[in-house]
Amino acid sequence: LDAIAGKKATYEQVMNEFYKPFQAALEKVHSNKHSIKQDLIEDSGEVCEKCGRPMVIRWGRNGRFLACSGFPECKNTRPLDQEKNEPEATDEKCELCGAPMVIKTGRYGKFLACSNYPKCKNTKPLSTGIHCPKEGCDGFIVERRTKRGRIFYGCSNYPKCDFVSWDKPVNQACPECGNNYMVEKYSKKKGKFLRCPVCKFELVEEVESTA
Ligand SMILES: [Zn+2]
Ligand SMILES: [Zn+2]
Ligand SMILES: [Zn+2]
Ligand SMILES: [Zn+2]
Repeated sequence: LDAIAGKKATYEQVMNEFYKPFQAALEKVHSNKHSIKQDLIEDSGEVCEKCGRPMVIRWGRNGRFLACSGFPECKNTRPLDQEKNEPEATDEKCELCGAPMVIKTGRYGKFLACSNYPKCKNTKPLSTGIHCPKEGCDGFIVERRTKRGRIFYGCSNYPKCDFVSWDKPVNQACPECGNNYMVEKYSKKKGKFLRCPVCKFELVEEVESTA
């Protein structure tokens, strides 16, 4: 009996040694397939309105689309590109035709465009809601970009008003010299802080230390 058991063991051993490399190769193929599949699925940051699970970006016959990560239990899908380019509504009215203005995203960032497009081609830079600090000017600060794509801040009354700033202005008076606006700055050490462009006074927001 011992002899048979011993024989059996060696037989199994032989079989194992024979199959092991195949199995390893097979597992490799499986894991490769898995990682390829993973690469095709991107996180979209959006949530499925049917089941609340995250939506992922998948590739289909007609390009990219949003699909619920709960598939196959949830078969919710949405087209991707229309969703992303959908203009945001605003309270502003087009001064040319009276139609509401909408926020669109273009090559140089967000901007205001007339919802009557293509009939009306009126566009405006997006207002930041900050009043132009220049005395006697009723304009708003708007975000603009240089030809090289660098963001700067100008007045919506340009060229009547020549206010420009590299840093985002805020409607907060300088506590040191009384200048009627300060600009937003950022440093790794201090985080976000305000600086007066006239006297260089820095106002660092109080951050509660966790230590
Ligand atoms: Zn779902
Ligand atoms: Zn218009
Ligand atoms: Zn101005
Ligand atoms: Zn100041």
